[in-house]
Amino acid sequence: MAEFILDNILRNNVKKLIPYSSARSEFEGDAQIFLDANENSLGSTLNNNFHRYPDPLQKQLKQKLSTIKNVPVENIFVGNGSDEAIDLLIRAFCNPGVDNILIFPPTYGMYEVSAEINDIAINKVLLTNDFQLDVDAIKNGIDDNTKIIFVCSPNNPTGNLLKPESIEWLLKNFNGIVVVDEAYIDFAIVTSWSQRLNEFPNLVVLQTLSKAWGLAGLRIGFAYASTAIIHVFNKIKPPYNISEATQQLALQALQNEQQAKEKTNVLIEQKKRLMEDFKQFGFIKTIYPSNANFILVKVDDAKTLYQYLILKTIVVRNRSSQPLCENSLRITVGTPQENDALLTALKNYK
Ligand code: PMP
Repeated sequence: MAEFILDNILRNNVKKLIPYSSARSEFEGDAQIFLDANENSLGSTLNNNFHRYPDPLQKQLKQKLSTIKNVPVENIFVGNGSDEAIDLLIRAFCNPGVDNILIFPPTYGMYEVSAEINDIAINKVLLTNDFQLDVDAIKNGIDDNTKIIFVCSPNNPTGNLLKPESIEWLLKNFNGIVVVDEAYIDFAIVTSWSQRLNEFPNLVVLQTLSKAWGLAGLRIGFAYASTAIIHVFNKIKPPYNISEATQQLALQALQNEQQAKEKTNVLIEQKKRLMEDFKQFGFIKTIYPSNANFILVKVDDAKTLYQYLILKTIVVRNRSSQPLCENSLRITVGTPQENDALLTALKNYK
């Protein structure tokens, strides 16, 4: 296949776009008096500097993240959740009514939803029965209008890592963007694809603070990519996409990497315990291996078990409508006490 040339796949309107220039990005220097952004000079009812617009490029946050993740600042985009990065990628590269993305169900739902919102068609190639990429079938799923391939590893809802050689095949043979969504990578003992950005100009890696860092409520996600792709993100993103409060709190959280790692280890231990204990239940037919903070199980009757757990005030995710996930529940690993409650409820089932 032809080599990857960013300009060939960027939408024309994005190529021509003159981005919004915000007051905070136009001025760089040591001013004391800011009369440039129509903020409220008297401040707010809160005792902090939230009356100022935030740094549009989140420099401090990126600096800290860069050290933790070993990714240069200029290769980082910060989004309002990684969901924002998914949407921006589709808007940057896919022409509505013309182009398509390729996804591998069962997988994370937002690729499809974001594509639909933007009037982008969705090509689908199912994962194999052991939830791996079907490279031969993928060759037929790519056409001239396929602009982005979304790969999720560890995959949601199946929990497994996808074989690196299959991902590498995509990166080498597809001349559009390959997104590797690593939302759950901190629960897996593997090297991030972000460490190979130099090899693949078409690679975009997604990560998030919503999972291992425990900050789903803050809404912070990252895309790591070539400087050229990061430039595209910055061109089309809302100017102040990450609030000042969010930037401050995220920076604070990143100072305590050790604590996040400890929590991750507890969750991994609890996952092992749940997987072991699930074996005693005859109504759980398959416990799929997991490199994430959740476990997919195939049961005899997902709907009935789901309803039963609700009666016990426990809510899990019924993924039975997804291909290859018939009668399957996705169970997030809880606190030790929550897992006790789950196991007790399961013991009393039937
Ligand atoms: N990717 C995957 C695979 C996910 O499961 C999720 C959240 N469920 C996201 C991305 C979105 O994460 P964020 O909270 O950063 O938007």
